Amino acid sequence: MITYCACVCICYNWFKMAGRPQAPRIISNAIIPRNRLTVYSCTPREIYSAMTDQMKWLQWLADHRLIRNNNDCGNCQAPMALVRRNEAPEGFSWKCRPCNTRCSVRAGSFFANCVLSSETVVMLMYYWIHAVKSTHVMLFENIVDWHVIVDYNNFFRLQCEQWINRQQVDLGGFDGNGQPIVVEVDESYFFRRKFHRGRRRKGNWVVGLVERGTGKCWLEIVRRRDAATLEQIILAHVLPGSVVVTDAWRGYANVGTLNNGVYVHEVVVHAMNFVDPHRPDVHTQNIEGLWMQVKRKIRYQSGTSRDLFPSYLSEFQWRYSHKAYVYGQYLCLLSENYGI
Ligand SMILES: [Zn+2]
Repeated sequence: MITYCACVCICYNWFKMAGRPQAPRIISNAIIPRNRLTVYSCTPREIYSAMTDQMKWLQWLADHRLIRNNNDCGNCQAPMALVRRNEAPEGFSWKCRPCNTRCSVRAGSFFANCVLSSETVVMLMYYWIHAVKSTHVMLFENIVDWHVIVDYNNFFRLQCEQWINRQQVDLGGFDGNGQPIVVEVDESYFFRRKFHRGRRRKGNWVVGLVERGTGKCWLEIVRRRDAATLEQIILAHVLPGSVVVTDAWRGYANVGTLNNGVYVHEVVVHAMNFVDPHRPDVHTQNIEGLWMQVKRKIRYQSGTSRDLFPSYLSEFQWRYSHKAYVYGQYLCLLSENYGI
């Protein structure tokens, strides 16, 4: 059975009336809004079933905001037509009728510089976001070179870094009952190891902030952990009125007097993980838990080069605050990164 999408039918009826062929100017009329994409999930089987037909697959890519639904000609700004093109990996391309310019359906998308088919890339992305082991992904997608998986995983991770770098993350402030929200702040040193073993190498200091109760967090690589650096990060990411909980490191000595005292500063003075029974809220267990998770995660994916370290941190931060519908959330991230 051959099925056509509604837009194709509309165009088809229109050109029957107009008496001349008219190629569609859009791929799909069922684009998923971003707010629905953030609660979207699917099984691999559902994705594979969209790959049975080139037009159906193109629409799947457009519906999920992975490629542009329409394209204007770079020369004459006119809407381009979607035409069959057998040489193109997706079987279609954009064509400007007035000036004959052609353009890939991948233009301006995540796939623009990908060598692999969009089908394979979408599945690699799906398995990466669900943390499926590389050896299994190679089996499922018939990939023989392990480096291909590594390269694409790096690419997926860099998308997290790009996205995080555009966000203004504000933590703390007041809750719905007018109570101040607690933000835990701490710094931690990340050693670099080569392939799980060998000598420790020079690493990075990372400053971490976690909003208690929500898990919203901010992680920042710093050159040093002096007062100037710590205060600047707190002022940039913690809203006035918050309770800031830190350890007794001298770099935090002036947090309570910043900007004429916009924060309440509580200091954990005891040994790690000890909660004072008289001040049960004064602890930094959330940020300490985060450090344990991020260090386990980054050690697990070891061999981490210095260049990739920021992207590993960004991936962790993004995943830490997007735990539900992670695939749909990642599609939404890509859609925002590429403005689709
Ligand atoms: Zn043109």
